[in-house]
Amino acid sequence: MAERSFKKEVELLRLGDGDTFEGEGILAVTKALLQSGVSYVGGYQGAPVSHLMDVLNDARPIMHELGVHVETCASEAGAAAMLGASVNYPVRGAATWKSTVGTNVASDALSNLASAGVTGGAMIVIGEDYGEGSSIIQERSHAFAMKSQIWLVDPRPNLPSIVKMVEQGFELSEASSTPVMLELRIRACHVHGRFATKDNRRGTFSGQNRIADPSFDYGRICLPPATYVQEKDKIERRWPAAVNFIRDHDMNEVFHGSADDVGIVCQGGMYNAVIRALQQVGLADAFGESAIPIYCLNVTYPLVPSEVTAFCASKRAVLMVEEGQPAYLEEAVNAILRKSDVQTRVMGKGLLPTAGEYTGEAVLHGVARFVEGAVPKGVDLAPVLQRYQQIVDAKAKAVRLLGEPIPTRPPGFCTGCPERPVFSAMKLAEQKVGKFHVSADIGCHTFSTLPPFNIGNTVLGYGLGLASSTGIGPNMDRRVVSVMGDGGFWHNGLTSGVANAVFNDDDGVLVIMNNGYTSATGHQAIPSSVKGGGIRSGAFQPDGQDIERALRGVGVKWIRHVRTYSVSKVIGTLRDAMTTKRGGLKVIIADGECQLARQRRIRPEVSAKVKAGNRVVRTRFGVDEDVCTGDHSCIRLSGCPSLSVKPTSDPLRDDPVAHVNNDCVGCGLCGEVSHAAVLCPSFFKADIVRNPGRLDRWRQGLRDRVISRLSRSSDATRQENAA
Ligand code: SF4
Ligand code: SF4
Repeated sequence: MAERSFKKEVELLRLGDGDTFEGEGILAVTKALLQSGVSYVGGYQGAPVSHLMDVLNDARPIMHELGVHVETCASEAGAAAMLGASVNYPVRGAATWKSTVGTNVASDALSNLASAGVTGGAMIVIGEDYGEGSSIIQERSHAFAMKSQIWLVDPRPNLPSIVKMVEQGFELSEASSTPVMLELRIRACHVHGRFATKDNRRGTFSGQNRIADPSFDYGRICLPPATYVQEKDKIERRWPAAVNFIRDHDMNEVFHGSADDVGIVCQGGMYNAVIRALQQVGLADAFGESAIPIYCLNVTYPLVPSEVTAFCASKRAVLMVEEGQPAYLEEAVNAILRKSDVQTRVMGKGLLPTAGEYTGEAVLHGVARFVEGAVPKGVDLAPVLQRYQQIVDAKAKAVRLLGEPIPTRPPGFCTGCPERPVFSAMKLAEQKVGKFHVSADIGCHTFSTLPPFNIGNTVLGYGLGLASSTGIGPNMDRRVVSVMGDGGFWHNGLTSGVANAVFNDDDGVLVIMNNGYTSATGHQAIPSSVKGGGIRSGAFQPDGQDIERALRGVGVKWIRHVRTYSVSKVIGTLRDAMTTKRGGLKVIIADGECQLARQRRIRPEVSAKVKAGNRVVRTRFGVDEDVCTGDHSCIRLSGCPSLSVKPTSDPLRDDPVAHVNNDCVGCGLCGEVSHAAVLCPSFFKADIVRNPGRLDRWRQGLRDRVISRLSRSSDATRQENAA
């Protein structure tokens, strides 16, 4: 039950010769894979390529018709290892994941794959999660390409270029016996456009045309002495073959311009930002005709030295637009030019930011400063700089008019999230057992590190919460609590965390958030997911891939299930785990279905029931304004976006009171926290009944009559007192 369904859009994958595809980048990539004749595809979800996994899953029937196998891999390492199919056989395939984190996980398999080399084309579609919308550490995939000698394709973000690069990427892979990475930034994944389609191709071998005899070649095994030969082959044959292919097939593009004594060299993915900056200062038109020549690197590794020198030789200066650091390309271009004795000045970092996303604004500043300093021939600088200054002034004016800077909006748990109560409970448990160190993990639960909880001292990687506690645990006065999601558990936490802790007899506490999905990446299924949604909670499950069974299988003895919303129970269980005399790993499985997924799942069911005239009850919580003391401790222990403040209507008080807005999903945490923390009794629970039955109407009538009688008698008392 993924966040977004592509059931309708995947029909575009059936388009054939002469048709026109119109849609999103990520779907175009899938179409290009089918046009390239892949036999297998797989991957692990993560922005910005989560939707590619969703498309592949939704397109299973079409894939099946073509004999293409789709694998939902347990991790990026598994996805990379899948590409082993292309080592011995003329079988094309692709894997996808979020980079650089996924590439970190996959790097062992990638090194082996790159060393062995491939027979069939192998492509890794990496979602380059870099910049302001990113959720991970800021590094570049470029380093992985260079270290393993995997070719890095970075297409111009428009559909025809992306599709062409996928198709040529497979040819490049086969021509040089080397896997290829296709780097897609978030804007490329979601860019919309059109391209002329071709018929889908069946792979040489596939599920419908299977390989009869396995092939064995010791030269493909990554063991000495084969590895020495492989390294030599990479350098002496594969690399030159790749350079020749890239050059002979014009994978990189040169856009000529009249001001040809200067130029811009850019990564393919940066082309749109460059051309937009040139348009803004009047040096390019709406159709991409630029006065400044551009050398667009649709392949950023390896570079083609002859192309670099040919573009730069006649120029006084070039601007290298390379997003992120280190400046691999700028240094490489400089080295190529100096070795060829070409003295063109290469500008880059300095005019452009050393690190961080190259937004339209950052590139505009860099391009304007380059043009101002380089004074391209035939360009009248005055109007260029005037346009630039107008944009700068307009932005400065907008900032002035806004007055206060716009407050930042950090991410946080959704309304009613089942993970929030666990952190409320941890805050309250700390009051009983003292402060404890928490090893956090990757997933929605990482939001616990933000206010109001600020729980989680370190984050070391996906599924590594428990593993990251093993060094600090024995050095702490109290037991360390580690957090892990069910996604992280199956990704690698079961082995690198749990099995390791049992093996070493580590005395720690692990809380596993069992919400049923990889929620943070868009609700993709994991091994313990239940078909159709929901979670297997509570008791030991007799069959299926169950977290408790897996824990018991690797030797964990102390296991407790808690319903996350039962805050008092979570506090008690945490306290038990922290104080029990029993050594070894203590695991608390915190059961609570992801509320976002749950709401999406039940909303259509509820509206169908309402439409059919059935009785439906929706629970909501509220705050009695007359009782609320305004100390807001409930907010500090919850952080639910629905729990807010509003001005009090009491003229004798001026502090705002707590308020529950209409988004409340009635998870019950407010009431639980008030109870567990012994807060003021201002919270009330209300059942909103739709299509009420006779009993509901009778009850409501009775309540109305009692309330009206009570108010009449209190009015009468007031009048008597007044008299
Ligand atoms: S997506 Fe689900 S698990 Fe993640 S914060 Fe929202 S409700 Fe919680
Ligand atoms: S009950 Fe409280 S915590 Fe739960 S959704 Fe409503 S306001 Fe948020």
